[in-house]
Amino acid sequence: AKAAGRNTYQFFTPEMNARVFERLSLENSLRKALPRQELMLYYQPQYRVGGGDPIGFEALLRWRHPELGLVPPARFIPIAEETNLILPIGEWVLAEACRQQMAWQRAGQPATTVAVNLSPVQFRQRNLVSLVQRVLAETGLPAAQLELEITESLLMDDTERAVEVLHELKSLGIRLSLDDFGTGYSSLSYLKRFPLDKIKIDQSFVRDMIKDSGDAAIIQAIIAIAAKLELGVIAEGVENQSQLDYLALHQCGEVQGYLFSPPVPAAEVCRFFNSATRA
Ligand code: C2E
Ligand code: CA
Ligand code: CA
Ligand code: CA
Repeated sequence: AKAAGRNTYQFFTPEMNARVFERLSLENSLRKALPRQELMLYYQPQYRVGGGDPIGFEALLRWRHPELGLVPPARFIPIAEETNLILPIGEWVLAEACRQQMAWQRAGQPATTVAVNLSPVQFRQRNLVSLVQRVLAETGLPAAQLELEITESLLMDDTERAVEVLHELKSLGIRLSLDDFGTGYSSLSYLKRFPLDKIKIDQSFVRDMIKDSGDAAIIQAIIAIAAKLELGVIAEGVENQSQLDYLALHQCGEVQGYLFSPPVPAAEVCRFFNSATRA
């Protein structure tokens, strides 16, 4: 009883208060981040395993906090989701990614896809389909060049509705990819129930595949299933040549990772074109 009492008492430590305070102050400044234009998108190129110019870019959110500097998405997206701030932020991300893709094209850059991460909170939003439709209309981006990256957790929430909404999104002509595949709940039945175009093999498998035969087996299995179901497959988190060689050997279609480039600001994206091909 004494120990429990002590534990209860310790719950209110100064460190604990500091953490609560930090969380609140981060939340407060996040509310101002969008109007203060502190948010920006970085872009990471995606390649065919055979090489050549990038075929797409994943848009990744960055927050330049005036005092804290660059705050990583892992630190602020959960807060944005809890507070529903992800709705206006996610809408900005979608519009900005589409606008940027069109700006590149008007400047003469080859047409590629742009992939935008979608939070489950955005997915639960009633007007998601009309939002995507409006952004495409306003930016002029051809629907086939927009890819939405969704996660399995989003499919589990309300499966019936998810199937419906994904079909509506598909009918706009956009592409859908399943992010972080192999982590979480990974029900294989999702792959045929949902109108997906592509699977993204989670980077945790790629990281260890050379030394962990279990991860290597999972990667081979994912690639085989994707081929059977006629889905594209991209491996993320490719950091070295031996990972790339292994993925090529096992017929993975596309790759993304630090081996090629980290995510970079929009202004640097032009350097991925008209340069020596790699991969
Ligand atoms: P994710 O969608 O799985 O994105 C991949 C993460 O891996 C990115 O981290 C990327 O920078 C990082 N990465 C890329 N290549 C490599 C590599 O070769 N090695 C390693 N170790 N990491 C690599 P980032 O940008 O910090 O984003 C983290 C997560 O935050 C994303 O994971 C995504 O879940 C979320 N996120 C980012 N931007 C958005 C957004 O606009 N909306 C939403 N809802 N979530 C976002
Ligand atoms: Ca992603
Ligand atoms: Ca991922
Ligand atoms: Ca992730």
